[in-house]
Amino acid sequence: MVKPRPNPAKRVCHAEPDTLIYVIGHNLYVNLTDRCTLACSFCPKHNNSKEVRDYNLTLSNRPDPEKIIQLIGDPQQYDEVVFCGFGEPTLRLKALIRIANAVKASGGKTRLNTDGLGSLFHKEDIVPLLATCIDAVSVSLNAQNEHLYEKHCSPSLPHSYSAVLSFIERASHWIPEVTATAIDGLEGVDISACQILAKERGAQFRARTLDQVG
Ligand code: SF4
Repeated sequence: MVKPRPNPAKRVCHAEPDTLIYVIGHNLYVNLTDRCTLACSFCPKHNNSKEVRDYNLTLSNRPDPEKIIQLIGDPQQYDEVVFCGFGEPTLRLKALIRIANAVKASGGKTRLNTDGLGSLFHKEDIVPLLATCIDAVSVSLNAQNEHLYEKHCSPSLPHSYSAVLSFIERASHWIPEVTATAIDGLEGVDISACQILAKERGAQFRARTLDQVG
């Protein structure tokens, strides 16, 4: 298995406890990992920042899913429980599924913000498993072609761009709400072309702004 890239913004020691969950608007966000297989040019952690919306999302270790379930409490007090953070949640697939199942069992709604590389990373189609406990997925498409994707996202796994496109198509088949995203204003990115790629695969599309990760 290819090792995910470590978080370059990680500190050697933590004076403060890790941010395992955090609230933005009416949603609760779960910070499962700060690692991923990409090194996006627009990512705060690759631009010497440890923070997203004033939350420091670097982690000193892998959070225990049972602890996160306890911290979430009643998920119905939020519009959605979102798996996001400073890394790729599907890298911790078992923990993600455990927490999402607990949220669903308590009447909550789940959303996964992903780079769409989970199936490539795990070398199997993870979409049917996600469909058992994830209500909505937001997939970072990021570019209208492989060349641009490589330029902006620097994937460590070969064939990442085609894997994202395939993931969007599979997810649209299995999961009720699937939205592909790209960043408006990022050099060379053609938002209309990204929108067409998403629609061709049965997904919705949303243009993102530069300060959002996941
Ligand atoms: S933007 Fe997301 S996928 Fe890209 S490097 Fe940052 S955490 Fe990883």
